[in-house]
Amino acid sequence: RVTILGSINVDTILQIPRLPKPGETLAMSGKQVAGGGKGANQAIAAARAEADTAFIGKVGDDANGKMMLKALQNAKIDTTQISTSNYADTGEAFILLDDNGQNSILVDGGTNQEIKIGDIETAHETIENADFLITQFETPLTTTLAAFRYAKSVGVTTILNPAPAKTDLDPELLKLTDLIVPNETESETLTGIKVTDEASMNAAATALIKQGVKAVIITVGAKGAYYQTKANHGFVKAFKVDAVDTTAAGDTFIGALSSRLNSDLSNLPAAVLFANKASSLTVQKLGAQPSIPHLSEILADGEI
Ligand code: ADP
Repeated sequence: RVTILGSINVDTILQIPRLPKPGETLAMSGKQVAGGGKGANQAIAAARAEADTAFIGKVGDDANGKMMLKALQNAKIDTTQISTSNYADTGEAFILLDDNGQNSILVDGGTNQEIKIGDIETAHETIENADFLITQFETPLTTTLAAFRYAKSVGVTTILNPAPAKTDLDPELLKLTDLIVPNETESETLTGIKVTDEASMNAAATALIKQGVKAVIITVGAKGAYYQTKANHGFVKAFKVDAVDTTAAGDTFIGALSSRLNSDLSNLPAAVLFANKASSLTVQKLGAQPSIPHLSEILADGEI
């Protein structure tokens, strides 16, 4: 069982030929509204990979909130610990996507920023019933710390996706983290080491392990993903596909990974291969949640 503490957004994707310059007006070539938010994306990825999945989060008392609750319930996610706030709107993101598949994103955190320590206390049972607790940086850090402290006190394996990248990290958080899963940018922000080859990935992962995490996976887009524990390390190549929109590639990776991982992290290479396959399907479709694959699609061509 996987419990995710995280953000829920509604994404509006604005398709444009190229990013506008300051003061410029451009015609859009298309628009799509879809479910998003790193937390919700990761939960949908885990649930579609057939992990028993629960969510801790917050939506607003608005149409977007109702739409997102329904989307998560349709994915068979346990939403009992998603509360409704009267003080803010459901989180929203506006994604500018150009013809090269390059994106720029504006986020209104909304109710995601309203998650409080009290919400974690209410969710203690949902945390202790899980094998994994996963979170990201789109919800308040104080709440993340409270959730990870509780998870560790009841023997739950913690997974941190340090996204979006943040520099002023509380050292306690890394000590409470079993597995950290940054992408290239986040890894560089955390360690100051630019990852270009396996040696630099090894150096970055070693720096993170020194700060207290037990295991590291660095995702490197179309190249694949590097994993490291105290005992071993290796690189698992990505699948060769034509990417149209890489939104939610990392989220699919983490959700799918958690559906396959042993809670003692003893099968990282196999779980990373599965996660690479799942996210290679996501990048071939537009939008965050609509593009996240089901288990049958991940296994369909027998490549894994
Ligand atoms: P994020 O979306 O967080 O920036 P990455 O870009 O590192 O994360 O992508 C996460 C994973 O998604 C990669 O490790 C890889 O398995 C897969 N992936 C991303 N882009 C591609 C691509 N162009 N082709 C195939 N797989 C990809």
